[in-house]
Amino acid sequence: MNYQQILDDIYTEIQPYLSKGKVADYIPALAEIPKEQFAMTITLADGRVFSVGESKKCFSIQSISKVFTFTLALNIYSKELYKRIGVEPSGNPFNSLVQLEYERGIPRNPFINAGAIVVTDSLISHYGDEYKALEVIMNFVREISGNEELSFDSIVANSEMEHGDRNRALGHLMKSFSNLDNDVIDTVMTYFKHCAITMNTEELSRAMLFLAFAGTDPISKKTFITPRQAKRINAVMLTCGHYDASGEFAFHVGLPGKSGVGGGIVATIPGKMSIAVWSPGLNKYGNSLAGTIALETFATKTGLSIF
Ligand code: GLN
Repeated sequence: MNYQQILDDIYTEIQPYLSKGKVADYIPALAEIPKEQFAMTITLADGRVFSVGESKKCFSIQSISKVFTFTLALNIYSKELYKRIGVEPSGNPFNSLVQLEYERGIPRNPFINAGAIVVTDSLISHYGDEYKALEVIMNFVREISGNEELSFDSIVANSEMEHGDRNRALGHLMKSFSNLDNDVIDTVMTYFKHCAITMNTEELSRAMLFLAFAGTDPISKKTFITPRQAKRINAVMLTCGHYDASGEFAFHVGLPGKSGVGGGIVATIPGKMSIAVWSPGLNKYGNSLAGTIALETFATKTGLSIF
């Protein structure tokens, strides 16, 4: 298959959609990003990489980081983790408080904000303090992406902290149900920091490769999780990776995927490749508008999906 040609065609077809979305403005530091930008990268098992657009330009990965922290926590706690978070789609926006009250502080899944905050809390408890936990998260993402220099943007993290009342509210609510062990502010700040990691589509696509290949990176041959855990993470990406638009994403794209409000989306085609796409304009669910269409087009043109 001529992947480069397919990506080039997608790049042409996507142009009219770049102006359509709305950049996330509830994090002021993200509101300034020009939305007419696009990049897409695929990485294959043999190390071949195909890209189009601004694939070397870094952006805020935001909720995509939840895949990485969930991977780490699952590795440490295994089934025990599911006492504190579920694996059901929420059918609600990513920052909703409603369900959390009547489900007694147990978030529906690790990819909504409440669930990711619990995951971060579990890492802080395991590693002893928030600095060590953040260091482990950063080193893990550096290792899987192949970029030792990778870092987070403290301007974005602080900007989110200044406007983070809703996430703090989620933390306090869970603490009132004894589902948060550490200080709410420290935990939420650590969560904001890992959301503020900056990466480009080449790095992100590379970082997702181990999840497309049952937990073992086919290029470095390093195993990060068991095949069973990789299956679970992919399953949760498919059912919960796009919040209340997860059904729609599965329906149109047919791949496990995870989005972030920075405009990035990652997806896996198990046994074949990993994909990252970026375009900052979002649809009403907070998922990249052009990115979602690009992935749907890719699935259609290649005939590849998990179904
Ligand atoms: N840091 C963002 C938040 O907590 C992440 C949300 C997202 O990417 N969907 O609101």
